[in-house]
Amino acid sequence: MGSLIFDKVAIIGLGLIGSSIGHAIKRSQLARHVAGYARTQKTRDTALQIGFVDSVHDTAADAVTGADLTFVCVPVGISGAVAQDLAPSLKPGSIISDVGSVKQAVIEAMSPYIPEGVHFIPGHPIAGTEHSGPKAGFATLFDNRWCILTPLAETDAEALQKLTAFWQACGSMVDTMSPDHHDKVLAITSHLPQLIAYNIVGTVTELEEDTQSEVTKFSAGGFRDFTRLAASDPVMWRDICIANRDAILEMLGRFTEDLTALQRSIRRGDAEKLHDLFTRTRDMRARIVEAGQETPEVDFGRHISDDTGVSD
Ligand code: NAP
Repeated sequence: MGSLIFDKVAIIGLGLIGSSIGHAIKRSQLARHVAGYARTQKTRDTALQIGFVDSVHDTAADAVTGADLTFVCVPVGISGAVAQDLAPSLKPGSIISDVGSVKQAVIEAMSPYIPEGVHFIPGHPIAGTEHSGPKAGFATLFDNRWCILTPLAETDAEALQKLTAFWQACGSMVDTMSPDHHDKVLAITSHLPQLIAYNIVGTVTELEEDTQSEVTKFSAGGFRDFTRLAASDPVMWRDICIANRDAILEMLGRFTEDLTALQRSIRRGDAEKLHDLFTRTRDMRARIVEAGQETPEVDFGRHISDDTGVSD
């Protein structure tokens, strides 16, 4: 680490992910200059004050001027509009990537604006927390987490290799897959759990007042862990649901069928079926621990250092 991979990197969107990329660049000196842009002056000022960018600009186009690598780190629903704004200023031969949680919709939205001679390589770091904004980021967010790149048919091999090296220097492990496969995998590993959390917490908010205060008091019985997911940014998740509608509906359909089967097992008192399911699910956790993506202790982010455990 400690080697300059790029001369100038531009980060458009300075929230949790954009700021964490800035911190990771600074930690390992991966660029000489980091330029930033966010929608509001407040976020731009905060970013400069924290110091994960070297300069902030009034427009995205100004920020990307002369950049060798540009990251679009905004909610997926506006990635097309942001690409349109900055595209004319992209440097020929440079790389533009994104971090959006959905890939097909983002590619469709951004691709039409990327000029010939600029390498567009979509990506998604599988790392995050339920916090958002420029103060939420930290340099170790990507350590030991996967970053998925979804190169296009025309993607230049050398540019892909450079972006891969960049994410590895940020602490990530890198894998590549097709955009539609990414969207299916993430629909089950991330989007469905998030929707389950929103739904459970939503159910509680509909309960009577006195029951709600009991829920808060005794929340350690599992509910608390769902509230952490359900505290995530509403704009981000609204956009993900709309952008990955088909894959999410497919997974919700399967989930609903399985929930109905579970309901039937409970109603019939089918101990064997219940035991069988609860045993299979334990094995899944053991496999995730074995893959180095979780510690054996179940604490679901009750310690600050475990914030990295939540990803989208
Ligand atoms: P965030 O903390 O809410 O930050 C979003 C940033 O985008 C803010 O700096 C915001 O600027 C800026 N922005 C919003 N609208 C904009 C516009 N119209 N033009 C320019 N900038 C605009 O969000 P995040 O969690 O970093 O998520 C960013 C992207 O990363 C999303 O696409 C998400 O799918 C993806 N992602 C998120 C996670 C996660 O766990 N959070 C993980 C992996 C990938 P202001 O502050 O000035 O409003």
